[in-house]
Amino acid sequence: MKNRLTIITIIVGLILFGSSVYMKGVYDGRSGDNLSLVATAEAKKSDEKLTPEAKAYSPVGTVPDRDMYFPGTEPLDPNEMRITALGTGQPSSRPKQAAACFLVELGNGDKFLFDIGAGSHERIAAQKIPYDYIDKVFIGHLHVDHFGDLATFWLGGTVMNRLTPLRIWGPDGAEEKYGTKYMLERLQEAYTWDIATRAGFVDFRGGVLEINEFDHRGVNKVIYEENGVVIRSIPAIHAIDGSVSYILEWNGFKFVYGSDTAPNSWLTEYGKNADFVIHECFLPPTLMITKQGFTPAEALTVSTIAHTSPEQFGKVMSEVKPRLAVGYHFYNDFDTQPEVYERVRKTYDGALSLAMDYMVWNVTKDDIKVRMAAKDEDVWPSPALKEKQAPDKSKMVPMSDWNKSGWLEYPDVLNPLWEEVNKMYGTDLKPQL
Ligand SMILES: [Zn+2]
Ligand SMILES: [Zn+2]
Repeated sequence: MKNRLTIITIIVGLILFGSSVYMKGVYDGRSGDNLSLVATAEAKKSDEKLTPEAKAYSPVGTVPDRDMYFPGTEPLDPNEMRITALGTGQPSSRPKQAAACFLVELGNGDKFLFDIGAGSHERIAAQKIPYDYIDKVFIGHLHVDHFGDLATFWLGGTVMNRLTPLRIWGPDGAEEKYGTKYMLERLQEAYTWDIATRAGFVDFRGGVLEINEFDHRGVNKVIYEENGVVIRSIPAIHAIDGSVSYILEWNGFKFVYGSDTAPNSWLTEYGKNADFVIHECFLPPTLMITKQGFTPAEALTVSTIAHTSPEQFGKVMSEVKPRLAVGYHFYNDFDTQPEVYERVRKTYDGALSLAMDYMVWNVTKDDIKVRMAAKDEDVWPSPALKEKQAPDKSKMVPMSDWNKSGWLEYPDVLNPLWEEVNKMYGTDLKPQL
């Protein structure tokens, strides 16, 4: 009996509590004006107690010293470089991690993409940089997770207001058919239909590809030298012949991008004492077996021979001794990162970032600051930097009369739409199907 009374008391109590919350909600809603007056008075009272520094950003100012990077809001110092991870995962992109892609921005205004793996294009767009400024892409090798978003960035870029050609650098192969030039020529062939729909209809200067293929066997050979920036390539060891790593030097900084490679002596020799080294750090074989369904034989081959496992990554970095070692190319989660970190720490005790998408580093002579970048999911294309030209009519591919015969013109809606635009812009446009 006593127990039943207790239960009833609790139930009644909960009902009363619930209704008071409900009533309060209704009351608050109905007398919002009065409440906000009270709130303002209270804020004023507490504002008087604030220090001048605090008053500068609260309640109507901005927050100083933000611990997050908001793309497009921070000038880069002339002597500084900023590196943003736009793809850090495994070959299959997923919402949290695209495949390999890193953006390097220099204080002289130059910007470079290293690899452009599947899923990375949307992360590039999130940087809010006009596409004319991101016109240089360096591909480490021709795995789809290292250039899978090239086509969307290249052709999609023509409607993102890119009006300058896209410049691509990449290695040749042991045979012509394994080289970057071969791939890019066929990529253009593969997109024949897409190009035909754009070239004669919009300003298509941004759809031109500049192909720069170089010898994959070159050891520390200069493949790019402009505007005080020198980029060299060194051979990588990955899958078959034709993989490279890159070394960028500018303003006394040395930046190394490994792309994919097993531990190799070119990288430890020519990357030595670099400021910033990005190198693959694959999942350990055990996690590939337990979480990804690889067989033990597959996992050992993939993690330790075709790629670089965490312990091997640590060994490489202990030889290179960079100011900051950045490991990437694994699904970086709450249950994988601790194990990857511990394994790296068996062989390397220097500065380390285990990269995830939207991680950003500001590199100066004295400091390397690491933060995460905010992403604006509603981002739109930046305006064109050049005046748009009329389309090249000679490139126009006409639609057949057969296809046109099914068109429903709806002049009662079409004519007012045209008039609306013509009136707004002082034009007399009458587009034809
Ligand atoms: Zn690869
Ligand atoms: Zn890869």
